Amino acid sequence: MNNKKNESIKDLLIKFFKAHPKEDMSHGPVVDWVEAKYMRLYHKKPRDTWRSIRNLHEVGFLIKVKKGIYRYDPEAVKERELEDFTPEQKETILKRDGYKCVVCGRGLKEGVELQVDHIKPKYLGGKSTVENGQTLCAQHNFIKKTLKQTETGKKMFIRLYELAKSEDNEELKRFCTDVLETYEKYNINGHIVWKR
Ligand SMILES: [Zn+2]
Repeated sequence: MNNKKNESIKDLLIKFFKAHPKEDMSHGPVVDWVEAKYMRLYHKKPRDTWRSIRNLHEVGFLIKVKKGIYRYDPEAVKERELEDFTPEQKETILKRDGYKCVVCGRGLKEGVELQVDHIKPKYLGGKSTVENGQTLCAQHNFIKKTLKQTETGKKMFIRLYELAKSEDNEELKRFCTDVLETYEKYNINGHIVWKR
């Protein structure tokens, strides 16, 4: 088996649909082609060809035209990539973050609703990848949607700076100053004014 190309039934399906972009494909020819190809590679019939097709639809690769007819549209896939995380990606991200909001640490245990958010937003070209995903509680996701990631951070540090000032906490003040000066250095969110 080691010298095989190691193409899964899914790889073969993707290959087939990519060779027929924007065509409505009924299951007959698809399954015939893919299974014959699989037979030549592995000398056995694949299991779950149908399930693999359905799965490619679930993750947004294929458009279901009607029962038994699927279509691959490269442009739709591109848009889909920008759109949202697949259920599988969401689960991976939630699991990685320990089913807790990365800002406040509240999670399932506290009965808090969790959402999966794009760290770099979609409108800035942020992709729907696991790396670009983070777990937020509904409250922090709302705040972030309103304020955006870096704006939220800057406002929080300005508040912390003010507090440190009023408490004469020099160390905390220095820490906040360093962070806020970094915002200035990179010209981030200049519209949020920090008064020293
Ligand atoms: Zn939170």
